[in-house]
Amino acid sequence: MVTFLGCIADDFTGATDLASMLARSGVNVSLRIGVPRTEPKNTADIEVIALKTRSIPASDAVKESLSALKWLKQAGAKKFFLKYCSTFDSTSKGNIGPVSEALMGQLGINQTIYCPAFPENGRSIFMGNLFVGQKLLSESSMKDHPLTPMKDSNLVRLLSAQVTNSVGLADHMIVNNGADILKEKLIALKKDGVAHVVVDAVAEKDLEIIANACEDMDFITGGSALAMPLAELYKLSGKISENNNIYRNHELTFGSVVLSGSCSEMTILQVKDFIERGAVAFQLDPIDMAENGIKKVLDWLTEQDFTKNIIIYATADPNIVRTVQDRLGVENAGRIVEQGLSECAVKAKEIGAKNFIIAGGETSGAITKALNISQLDIGIEIAPGVPWTFFGTKNNQMALSLKSGNFGKVDFFTEALSKLENL
Ligand code: ADP
Repeated sequence: MVTFLGCIADDFTGATDLASMLARSGVNVSLRIGVPRTEPKNTADIEVIALKTRSIPASDAVKESLSALKWLKQAGAKKFFLKYCSTFDSTSKGNIGPVSEALMGQLGINQTIYCPAFPENGRSIFMGNLFVGQKLLSESSMKDHPLTPMKDSNLVRLLSAQVTNSVGLADHMIVNNGADILKEKLIALKKDGVAHVVVDAVAEKDLEIIANACEDMDFITGGSALAMPLAELYKLSGKISENNNIYRNHELTFGSVVLSGSCSEMTILQVKDFIERGAVAFQLDPIDMAENGIKKVLDWLTEQDFTKNIIIYATADPNIVRTVQDRLGVENAGRIVEQGLSECAVKAKEIGAKNFIIAGGETSGAITKALNISQLDIGIEIAPGVPWTFFGTKNNQMALSLKSGNFGKVDFFTEALSKLENL
């Protein structure tokens, strides 16, 4: 199959989110973790490459993004999408602008748009300013983000500091008038030499208008919400076709296990709910693991009846996490937990587990690496932005659900398993 749309995402769970939005249109979507080392073969209609570039220096991000672009072009991609966070995580030294400008240069393109809006999740853009719920980005909790503190909400200003070519705005008055007017505006801006256009969007309907106006563009940048109507349009115009059979092959055979290293508020509730519903649980104690290793949990895992629901978790309330971090150091504590959960995953696979639900963005990255997973086929969505994904061939297939932070409802783990049973 020749790929039509090639996507580059600046982090792993962002890529999963994007892939699941694209898969809503019912087309084949494949997620690659990092730029594949081998030449493209049997690629999907839509290929998403997950990079880890969100917080790295611009020159490194540019290099990696260009290498992803090269692979996607080799896969046959005709259209390209650069995906970043709906909170536009980047400062004046940020890499969204430089990466975009480098990709445009490589593709020979002189204009693109920027639209991180995700109205379903409360991210909207009005007069070039990004809002999180009712707050300006610079007044939201993002203002104190440890890596990318967002002190300015104005995307035109933020972007102008990052790029060499000029930046403009297609505001909501334009977008609200429909795709044709927006198209005209983009042409007018292009005549004025504007290469980077921030586009307002406050509702789903705006994203549909933007997708319609920009369907013919070869390179678009934005959040995952904009990609969704685009995929739908590519399908409607026959550029890609519906084919969602790949993940129907999965057989829910022996063994599902939940591994949770997320300490986000929602994950804490989800772990509690799963245990209350009767899951057999093992709580990891990072301090004990630092002192005595992880033999205890591996032995426990070996004794389990895999017809039951099993969960291993390090998830804990913030005050407990703080105590652990004070004792072990923040990074060290994180590493010990990630390594421990990774070894549990490898052991579970050895015993025969086929289905893994993993909670935590960093945790997901560590576990997929330990399981040697470099590519995932995107399947049915469990919660917005969290799909079941599949790895391996028909007779030796694993199902993985990678859930970051606050995604999903309280009964997410139960819901995920029931979705899998009913495929
Ligand atoms: P989220 O997506 O919710 O942010 P992550 O997996 O990205 O979850 O991050 C959670 C981090 O916290 C991981 O590095 C994990 O190893 C670490 N962690 C998990 N449980 C504990 C704990 N009990 N004590 C200290 N650190 C922990």
